[in-house]
Amino acid sequence: MILIDGKKIALELREELKRKIVELKSKYNAIPGLTVILVGEDPPSKIYVKNKEKFAKEVGINSEVIRYPANLEEKVLLDKIKELNNNEKVSGILVQLPLPKHIDKRKVIETIDYKKDVDGFHPTNVGNLSSGYDSSIPCTPLGCSLLLKKVEKNLSGKHAVVIGRSNLNGKPMTQMLLKENCTVTITHSKTEDLKTECLRADIIIAAVGIPELVKGDWVKKGAVVIDVGINKTEKGVVGDVAFEEVSKVAGALTPVPGGVGPMTIACLLKNTVDCFKKLRK
Ligand code: NAP
Repeated sequence: MILIDGKKIALELREELKRKIVELKSKYNAIPGLTVILVGEDPPSKIYVKNKEKFAKEVGINSEVIRYPANLEEKVLLDKIKELNNNEKVSGILVQLPLPKHIDKRKVIETIDYKKDVDGFHPTNVGNLSSGYDSSIPCTPLGCSLLLKKVEKNLSGKHAVVIGRSNLNGKPMTQMLLKENCTVTITHSKTEDLKTECLRADIIIAAVGIPELVKGDWVKKGAVVIDVGINKTEKGVVGDVAFEEVSKVAGALTPVPGGVGPMTIACLLKNTVDCFKKLRK
C-alpha cells in the first residue's frame, strides 16, 4: 500500500511556487499578492488565517490580512472588496468563512472579482469548472486531485466514487474527475447503499465529516482512497476513512493528519500565483 504523503507533496509544491515567484518577479518586476479578510473571532478561522499568512510569506507572496470585528457592517466589507478588486498589487482575495450571520455570504463571494477568486467559489469560476473551461478551483479538491495524480497518472476510464456533495469539496471534485475522463458516482446522505457504491470504485474521495465512515470491507482491493475528513474525536483527529482497516486493502491511501490537509493551503498559494499570471496576460 502506498501511503500518500501530503506533507511532503505540499512542501514540494511550495518549493516549486517559490521558484516560480522568483521568475515572475524578474519578468514583471512584481510579485503575487494575497489579501485575506477575517471577520470576527472564530478560533479555527483565526488559526487557518495565521497559517495562510505564514505559508504565503514563506513562498514569497506579498501577504496581507485584514481583520474586522464580528459586528462589521456588510457594506464596509463589500466596499473593501471592491477596493481590493481595483488594486493591481492584489492578485488574490480570500474572505475567510464562516462569516457572521448578518453578512450575506453569497453577496460577498459574488463581489470578489472572479479573476482574483483564489477560493474558486465565485459563480463564474464554478460555471467555468463545470463547463470544463479554465477556472480557479477550490483549494481542497485541487489538492486531492494533485495527490491522486501522484499515484494514478492516467485517470481516464477509472470509476470514482465521491462521498459528499458540498460546494466546497464534493461537487468541484466531481467536476475535476469528469474532466479527467473518470466515470463518477457522487453520493450523499440520501444514498441508499453507500457500501455497494464504494465497492465498485477504483478511486474513493471521502468528504463527509463522519469519523471513520468508510470501512475496510467497503473498499475494492487496490483502490486509491483520498480522505478529506477532519474529525475531532476522543482518540484525536481522524478522517472519514477507517485508516487501519482500509490500509490493508487499498492500493494507496492518504493519512489524516498529513494527507489532504497540508495540500489545501499549498493550493491556495498555487491559485494566487495562477491568478497573478492570468491577470497579467
Ligand atoms: P459538508 O458541507 O458538511 O458536506 C458533507 C457531505 O457529506 C454532504 O453532501 C452530506 O450529504 C454528505 N453526507 C453526510 N452524511 C452522509 C452519509 N452518511 N453518507 C454519505 N454522505 C453523507 O462538509 P464539507 O465541508 O464538504 O467537509 C467534509 C469533511 O471534510 C469535514 O470533515 C471537513 O472538516 C473536512 N474538510 C477538510 C478540509 C481539508 O483541508 N482537509 C477542507 C475542508 C473540509 P447531504 O448533501 O445529503 O447533506
